[in-house]
Amino acid sequence: MSLWIQLAYLVATALFIFSLKWMSDPKTARRGVLAGALGMGLAIVGTLIDPSVIAGNYKWIAIAVILGTIIGVPLSRVPLTAVPQRTALSHAFGGFAAGLVGTAKFYYYVQGGHELNTFIMIALCAEVLLGYLTFTGSLMAAGKLQEVLPSRPILYKNQNLINFLLLVAAIACCGLLVYDPHRFSYLFPAVIVLALLFGVLLIIPIGGADMPTVIALLNSYAGLSAVAMGFVLNNKLLITAGALDGSSGLILSIIMCKAMNRSFTNVLFGAFGQVQQAAGEAEKRTVKSATPKDAADLMENANLVVVVPGYGMAVAQAQHRVREIYDHLTKRGVSVKFAIHPVAGRMPGHMNVLLAESDIPYEDLVEMDEINPDMPQADVCLVIGANDVVNPAALHNDKSPIYGMPIINSHKAKAILAIKRSMNPGFAGIENELYYDDKTLMIFGDAKAVTGEIAKALAGETGGH
Ligand code: NDP
Repeated sequence: MSLWIQLAYLVATALFIFSLKWMSDPKTARRGVLAGALGMGLAIVGTLIDPSVIAGNYKWIAIAVILGTIIGVPLSRVPLTAVPQRTALSHAFGGFAAGLVGTAKFYYYVQGGHELNTFIMIALCAEVLLGYLTFTGSLMAAGKLQEVLPSRPILYKNQNLINFLLLVAAIACCGLLVYDPHRFSYLFPAVIVLALLFGVLLIIPIGGADMPTVIALLNSYAGLSAVAMGFVLNNKLLITAGALDGSSGLILSIIMCKAMNRSFTNVLFGAFGQVQQAAGEAEKRTVKSATPKDAADLMENANLVVVVPGYGMAVAQAQHRVREIYDHLTKRGVSVKFAIHPVAGRMPGHMNVLLAESDIPYEDLVEMDEINPDMPQADVCLVIGANDVVNPAALHNDKSPIYGMPIINSHKAKAILAIKRSMNPGFAGIENELYYDDKTLMIFGDAKAVTGEIAKALAGETGGH
């Protein structure tokens, strides 16, 4: 039996590695998801056929499977725009599970009078600390993204000092537990409480706009706590899967920090996303507006149109209408490119997923760094529900909370068309000077409705021919 279990674990590990590899390219991403799911299925089967796991525990395992299914199935049905908070919830569950396993193991060993060697005790402390802090931290992140909690930073006095002291206290308790687990077992609950508290206090001062990076970081904590759990349970699959999870989470957070031109410390301690105190200086400025028909006329006479999709396109589910616009324009010989900002929307790769869904050829999706030099040649830049990612304040206003974030240089295009419903700000909660630019025409309305009308206007021109 043990051979079969090890074989299942080995194949599962290989599938996880291939899964990550395949998921890094849109062409193979579906295969990657399948490989990941298959690997996880094998890992579960491998664990369930282990006699030491299953012996006498059928009832509890069945209850856990039923409960997991009841919670998991509705969670899988959330709209794409809610995936970040759903992901945060998954990390919360993962961290909580690791924390609970660690707690159960500790008391099992201590109360049974078993020997707890230094290595196991260090692994147990790491598992419990990271597991519980990931649990509450991820719940805070999910709450902020779902706007159950205020997404602006909730600041408190001496926050960094308090967090530092909490962490030092937790590590000190862990040190004593490692030194003599039986004598200091009364400190174990203190480690749990400190970790839970640390998770809350670490995340609430961080603004909603930084949540994607934070989620990626929490993902990596959850992975590391799984590695520690693997050492405690002597389970090699947990060690490798946790290490993959931990490192991919870390790499993703580094990529996102780079995309927003922020450092880790700045994300964790910088309270980004604070509502800008610019109300006093706000002056009444006017914007120019246009109709979908005007937009169609402008675009069909262009040589190059650059489309900048953003969160609003995702909410409105406008991608299929955008595809119609793409078809009409390219048929007329207009070159159409899609400028993809790494943090457009609400999750990494959000725009790529939506545009792939509407079958826009992948070669017409251009990364920010590649499209920016061509922006001055664009006759029209069509901004669809994007706001922060095209806000020039990020380039020159050092008071702006998004200062330093690279943007798509829409303001350099010869003309800008911006589709949104109102003058409301985007995620960072700040005004966008692009809309007041002389070259900008606003087309107010829901992105799906407006793009539909533009597509119709473009079709009307060719109708009957
Ligand atoms: P923004 O959130 O800056 O702006 C979206 C705009 O879309 C709003 O100004 C809104 O204006 C408009 N909008 C909303 N609904 C509709 C609709 N139905 N039709 C038309 N317009 C609509 O989006 P961006 O994509 O520009 O920027 C992403 C922001 O989110 C960045 O600040 C980023 O840091 C942050 N973020 C990114 C994540 C990621 O991983 N990609 C995850 C979490 C946050 P109006 O209400 O007037 O219509």
